[in-house]
This record gives sequence, C-alpha cells and structure tokens, in this order.
Amino acid sequence: MLVNGPTLLVLAALVLCYLVTGLARRLNVRCLSESIPPEFEGVFDPGQYRRSQEYLRAGARLEQLRESFDTLLACGFVLAGGIGWADALARGLAGSLGLGELGTGLIFLGGLGLAQAVLSLPFDIYSTFRLEARFGFNRTTPGLFIADRLKGLALGAVLGGALCSGVIWAYMRMGSVAWLVAWGVVAGFSALMLWLGPAWLLPLFNRFTPLEPGELREAIEAYAAGHSIGLDGIFVMDGSRRSAKANAFVTGLGRRKRISLYDTLLDRLSNEQVVAVLAHEVGHSVRRHILKGFAVAMLKTGLLLAVLQAMLASAPLQQAFGAAQPSVHVGLTVFALAYQPLALLLAASANALSRRFEFEADAFAADTPERAGALSGALKALSVANLANLTPHPLTVWLHYSHPPVLERVRRLEGASRPR
Ligand SMILES: [Zn+2]
Repeated sequence: MLVNGPTLLVLAALVLCYLVTGLARRLNVRCLSESIPPEFEGVFDPGQYRRSQEYLRAGARLEQLRESFDTLLACGFVLAGGIGWADALARGLAGSLGLGELGTGLIFLGGLGLAQAVLSLPFDIYSTFRLEARFGFNRTTPGLFIADRLKGLALGAVLGGALCSGVIWAYMRMGSVAWLVAWGVVAGFSALMLWLGPAWLLPLFNRFTPLEPGELREAIEAYAAGHSIGLDGIFVMDGSRRSAKANAFVTGLGRRKRISLYDTLLDRLSNEQVVAVLAHEVGHSVRRHILKGFAVAMLKTGLLLAVLQAMLASAPLQQAFGAAQPSVHVGLTVFALAYQPLALLLAASANALSRRFEFEADAFAADTPERAGALSGALKALSVANLANLTPHPLTVWLHYSHPPVLERVRRLEGASRPR
C-alpha cells in the first residue's frame, strides 16, 4: 500500500469529484416534476413525458454505477502502487524491444488507454444494447458496435500516439521552454483536427451524402443567399445507423464549413423547421463560435502544460506513486488524476461559454418572428424525439450542460416570435 501525502491528495481529488457529480445527479433526479411545463403541453403527451423521466432515471443509475466503479478502480490502482508497477512493466517491455524513453512512455500510456477501453466495455454494451434499446433509440448492430470500437482504438493509437510522442519529446528535450513547445504541439495538432477532422475522420464512421435537390434544398439555399452566406456543402448524415436520436452540427475552421443534418432530423421536422435549425448552425459560424471556443481551450491548455512542467521537475513526487525513476509519462498520469477537480471546474466554465454561444446562435436564427417560431417548434419536436429532460437541476446544468435547458431556449424564442 502506498499511503503518503501525494497519493492521499490524488485520492481526495478523485473522491471529491465523485461526490460532487454524484450529488448533481441525485438532485437532478429529484428535480423531475410530475406536471408538464405549459410550453410543452400538447407537445409531450403524458405517456411520453413519463417515459422521458424514466429514461433520465435509468441513465442516472447507470452513470452512478459507472462512476463508482471507475473511482474505486482508480483509487485502488494508485494505493496498490499500480502506477509504479505499470511503469516497470513498460520499461521491461520497451527494453526487450530495444526502445528508449519515448517508446517506454508510449507503451505505458497506450497500455493504460487500452485497459481503460476494455474496462468500460461492459458499461458501453449495457448502455447501447439495453438502456438505449429499451427506450427505442438503439439502431446499432453488434457488428457495427465492434467495428466502431476497433476503428476508435486504431484512431486512438495513431492520433493519440502522435500527440503523446510530441508532448513527451518536448518535455524530454526542450528544458525550461518545454511547456511552450508542448503547447505549440498540442495547438497545432488540435487545429489540424479541427480543420481536417470533419473531412477525414467523420466519414470513417458515417456516410455523408449531399442533400438532394428539391424543396428543402431550395429553401436552404434561399436562406443562405438572403443572408449572404457561402456554404461549402449541406450534407445528410446517416445517423439512423446508430440511433433514432436526431441532431445537426457545423464543423470546420475558416472557410471550410460543413453543415451536417442527421437523416433522423429530416424525418421529424418540417422544411421551415430544418431551415431554422440550419440558421442556428449558421449563427455559430457567423459569430465565430468555433474559433472562439478553440482559443479559450488553447489558453487553458497552455496553463495546464505550464503547471505540468512544474510537477515534472519534482522527482520525489513521482517516487511517491511507486515509480523507480521520474519520467514524463508517469508525471503526466499523476497530473491527469490530481487535476480532476480543476478539470471539472474548467469543463463547467467551457460549458457556460458554450451555453452563451447557443443563445447567440438562437438569436441569430430568430431574425424574423416566423423563424423564431419555427426554431422553437423544432426544439420541441427534438426534445420529444430525444426524450430530453425538461427540468434539469441547476447544478447539473452548470457542470454538464453545453446547451441551455431546452425550456429556457423555447421561452426566449417564443418571446421573440410574438408579433412586435
Ligand atoms: Zn448550437
């Protein structure tokens, strides 16, 4: 057993996060109310409304179980000296392969990543084939599930391996400016993903077909022309391969903007409502939300990499976790565990920014009372389709919601759709 100041500190960090997210979940379930909010009367029928609440409860139970398991496992791993043990194992393996410090780091981090993927597999399987299936969402076949996992692992190995190599190399070779070099590596990598990801990575998982000519396409093009917006492409994504849930998104940096509409969205919304959803997505690019979000994320990354540099300089700290000699990969792992409470706070602040962007995109879309009404109608239809929770607890919203609660969005839009 490794019981000392640093390991207890990491344990306290993990337990604190567990308690806070568990409390949020409990309050969220308790916040469910029997009565349908007036804005949603006639949208949700009482049976569907009860079903949406049952869906939330079932999801909360599974999340609680998953987090209990993860927290116990992480605490046990740290206390039992798992980090030092994995480090020795990686060193032995790298030695027999003739690899150096960088290779050791990649084996260590890759091994932990693989173990995590395997251990979360039962929860993923239960979530997809039991929970989502029970509520009529799941469309994923076992074959597709396995293919998705394998593709995800291969991508993680290639992309994660490249990123980790860059960061480990920077901290090994660049001395006092290592965090700056690592920052450049991470920022360059993230920009590349933002730029090329949509065109390269998403087609590995889904098929994108250009929206076919017809009334909807004409309506969308008329909207774009009326707002002097140049579209790179409007695509329909076969989201129905995996789930009946509906969505839409815009991706890309600079001029390369792809608008993707789930096929499940087109099934459920009128043409006016699809145009309104698209107008919301266009609002994100016109207001430069992707770029702003990226800039904020990179500022945080720089800060974290500077703190990591200070931590890596302390050899006794790493020995406290059972590592025979200090290394970048062990420092990185200890840091990733210890900074969880800060990560929760940083994610909450990123979510707060994202919620502001969502209101801005809604306001952009609601340029006429008719369009405001269409967007509000679309949000309501999607809430029913996705069995959304209409009454989340503020703590859950603050911690986890990247979008404002749908009721708040609908209220604002209905204010804007009333004749002025
Ligand atoms: Zn949005």
